[in-house]
Parts: sequence; C-alpha cells; structure tokens
Amino acid sequence: MTARQTVLLDLEGTLYTREGLLEGARAVVQKLRADGHTLRFLTNTDSKDTAELHTALLALGLDVRIDELFTPVVAAAVALGGDPTARVLVLGNEAITTELTNRIKVVGPHENPTHVVVGDVRAHLTYTLLDDAFAALRRGAHLIALQKGQYFLSDGSAHLDTGALVAALEYAASLTAQVVGKPSTDFVNLALRSTPAPANPRRTWIVGDDASTDIAMGIKAGLRTVQVQTGKYTLQTTDTSLPVADDVVESVKALPALIRKKAL
Ligand SMILES: [Mg+2]
Repeated sequence: MTARQTVLLDLEGTLYTREGLLEGARAVVQKLRADGHTLRFLTNTDSKDTAELHTALLALGLDVRIDELFTPVVAAAVALGGDPTARVLVLGNEAITTELTNRIKVVGPHENPTHVVVGDVRAHLTYTLLDDAFAALRRGAHLIALQKGQYFLSDGSAHLDTGALVAALEYAASLTAQVVGKPSTDFVNLALRSTPAPANPRRTWIVGDDASTDIAMGIKAGLRTVQVQTGKYTLQTTDTSLPVADDVVESVKALPALIRKKAL
C-alpha cells in the first residue's frame, strides 16, 4: 500500500480551463482521496474569498472541501495567524477583507498596524488609502503582497494588477514586500503548514501546468514536481530557461497511477 502523500494541486490549467473541467479531473480527485492522500488545491487569486471559490469548484463538479483550498488570502492568514501581536491593515476588496477579519486581527490605518497586506483593491483604491499604508510602513509595518502580478487581462485588454500597487509602496517606503502567493516559495511552505501533519518533502507532490510558478516553487521547496501538458504548458514548450519537473505527464489523469508507482 502507498504511504500517505501530500498532494498540492494547481487548479486552472491543471484541473480545469476556461472551457470547463479537464477530462478525468473529477475522477482524479476522487482517486487521490480514496488513496488516503492529503490534498490542497492551489490558486493565486487575490480577488475572491474561499467560500466563493469553493462554490464555483463544486458547481464545476470537483469534490473539494473548503479547508483544502489554498489562496494567497489563506496564505496571509496562515503566515500572520501565529503572531498574536499582528495588527493588519488590509488593502483589499470586501470579500478578502472579511475573510482576513475572520482569521486575523484587522485594524484601521490609525490603529498602529504592524503589517500591511495588499490584494485586489480595485473597488476601494484612493490616494488616502495608499498614503495611509505608506505611513504605516514608514512607522515600521511589514509589507505583504498577496501576489505581485504586473497586469491582468480582462475583456481583451491589460489592467493594473496588485503588483503595480505593491511596487508603488515598495518604492516610496524603500523596502521589499514579502510575497505570499505564487511564485513565492512561501506560498508552498504556508500551504504545507496548513496540513494536519507535518509534511515530508519527499512525500509531497506539487502538480501544475506552469513551469515558471508551480514547478519552480516546488523545486525550490524540495518537493516532487509533476508538470501536466495542459493549460499553459503549450505556451512554454519553446522556453528552455524554465525549470524541468521530475515528471511530465500528458494530463492530470496520469497522476494517481504515477504516485502509486513512485511514492516513497
Ligand atoms: Mg495553472
């Protein structure tokens, strides 16, 4: 029998695409669960709360528990949850601010924040808010970025992403943010910290379609890496500078058998 493994599964491009679930994805999750493995589902979204994502995944037909979902919002909560002195100013939308408020001590800009967390703040961004965050950083608060994307694509055009605002604060305050989302190794390590038992890296697998994030993070964290040839994979085949996974499989369908065969 295969020893219990921890499996970190990327979502978009690995289990589903914009067209819907990838063939066999539902059965893969069921098989991994039946084999007794600990699962975490990773996504880099900083605009939706876990409940909303969970509802969307259930609607797609994936058998995912809400506590198995791991986003940069959850990562920030795990990172700060162990610090009883943390008082966190959140630059984010209502959904993620509420989720963080339920998990950690969220304070206003004039309540001596020890940390500034920046996520999707499109709906609330003002000069005053950015300036308040800058003031908190000047007083010694740590800057945490949920992710550091430069821009995102929507309706056929590019729009400023979270990373652009993080860069403004880094520049003004002369510091570097801790990034807790992909491609930071912190994202993987915090995901593993969220599992019930300490994970053994040689019994921990990360599975994704993106060599520049999923596979790069996994290699740095010392995990076993599997790249699927779906999603972004086809866009990356000509880039020889990207890291190479321990195993490359046609699709996530091959994963349960691969783990059974190669698990330590
Ligand atoms: Mg992906």
